[in-house]
Amino acid sequence: MEKIDIKEGPKIEDYRAYSSLKSTVDHFLEAAPGHIAALKGRTVWMVNSTAIGGGVAEMLPSQLRIMRAMGLKIEWLVIETADTEFFNHTKRIHNAIHGSGDGRFSEADREIHERVNRKNLDRALALIANGDIVVIHDPQPMPLARMLKKERDIYCVWRCHIGLEESNSVTKGVWSYLQEYFESYDRFVFSLEEYVLPDIADRTSLIPPSIDPLSHKNRTLQMHKSVSIMAQAGILEPRGPQLYEPYAHQVRRVMPDGSFGRVNQQDPFDLIYRPIITEISRWDRLKGFEELMRAFVHMKEENRKKNDPDSIAYKRLELCRLVLGGPDPEFVADDPEGEEVLSELIAFYKTLPANIQKDIGLFLLPLDNPKENALIVNALQRCSRIVVQNSIQEGFGLTATEAMWKQTPVLVSGAAGLKFQVADEETGKINEDPKDIQGLATTLEYMINHPKELDKWAFSAQSRVVERFTLFSQIQAWLQLFNTMVTKN
Ligand code: UDP
Repeated sequence: MEKIDIKEGPKIEDYRAYSSLKSTVDHFLEAAPGHIAALKGRTVWMVNSTAIGGGVAEMLPSQLRIMRAMGLKIEWLVIETADTEFFNHTKRIHNAIHGSGDGRFSEADREIHERVNRKNLDRALALIANGDIVVIHDPQPMPLARMLKKERDIYCVWRCHIGLEESNSVTKGVWSYLQEYFESYDRFVFSLEEYVLPDIADRTSLIPPSIDPLSHKNRTLQMHKSVSIMAQAGILEPRGPQLYEPYAHQVRRVMPDGSFGRVNQQDPFDLIYRPIITEISRWDRLKGFEELMRAFVHMKEENRKKNDPDSIAYKRLELCRLVLGGPDPEFVADDPEGEEVLSELIAFYKTLPANIQKDIGLFLLPLDNPKENALIVNALQRCSRIVVQNSIQEGFGLTATEAMWKQTPVLVSGAAGLKFQVADEETGKINEDPKDIQGLATTLEYMINHPKELDKWAFSAQSRVVERFTLFSQIQAWLQLFNTMVTKN
């Protein structure tokens, strides 16, 4: 078990100084002290399985920083192991909660799951005291609560970041495997109503994920700063003297022959000069990348067939380009599924005519430096005409939240997490079925040619994020939950 240090970062006053965030912060500052006073003498322990990468690791540092600044004792523990069987097993659990795989888990699987948690137990016991609150994130450390409770009188919460709107034989299989651990938890937290399990509904709270508006992923970037980040990252060719050195690792682009090269190696991609449609996600089939690429191709072909080349509508669509961004596999150890999905996308890209290939950038983003990666994503989201999240399934979809915060118009699928955030034609556009290529192409065409509508939705989208999905809403929900737990018992 490793205790993670939280680095310095923005302070509450920094958030409050943003007029759009002020009332959210003030509301929080009114409610939080009472909750925190009631938790005096207790430490809250957040436990998960990784300190870098993934939504949980992304959200925890800023939340802990704010809670500490308010006087709460809160720590972050990460279970330690190099056991690949463990990660294969927990990946299968993860997939099964999303409805894929066979949903069959044996006692031998359980032993793998428990042995890693058992190895982390002593260190956890040395830190956790009676009366403390332990929040276990996701299935990896799930067995730990039962082991801890044998030795300590504590409160345990299980925070599940994933889910599926429907129940099938696979999800039933995995939940029946995990059910054994339920009784050791006092409370459960899911992101959306749709994911709540009926058997534990009376012990469940809903807390949607959130973004940190001042993190490198989301902080304001002036146009010259976005341009400079993209020049440092190799997305744009630098012009004239530059303030900063290029990043050690550059964004790479898939070349027409399927190899990886520099973004502007063959032709300038001209990202800042054109309307850009962007999706940035992990290379995962459920993110709907291939469907989006097919819809984009269809939109381009239809435009060339049907529209008047002298019209603005035609020219907008003709100029428009697509960026599909995801992690550069060079920096991702052990994600065979991700590599497979990227290969499938490359295989499809290779079949396209040269004049369409030019319009599609399959971008591989370096991950060696989290700050640089976050700034690249930030700049790309800000420079896009539309950010798409065409997920076939989506737990929540922070990529949509991030774009909405930046007032970049979003187009999302009807997956539960995305629909929870976006109201159709109010805060973005919903194309219900991510596999409906024709429908998606028509929606893209409509959006590219209705810029004023998009800007209106994007403006409202930021308010939606401020009201519901910033770290302050999330922290407040946590504090409320901790309070109900300790005052009830
Ligand atoms: N992301 C990133 N670099 C990448 C791909 C994704 O930083 O190359 C980030 C993205 O900005 C978001 C997170 O990874 O913050 C993905 O969260 P989301 O809820 O969208 O999907 P998940 O990956 O959890 O399924």
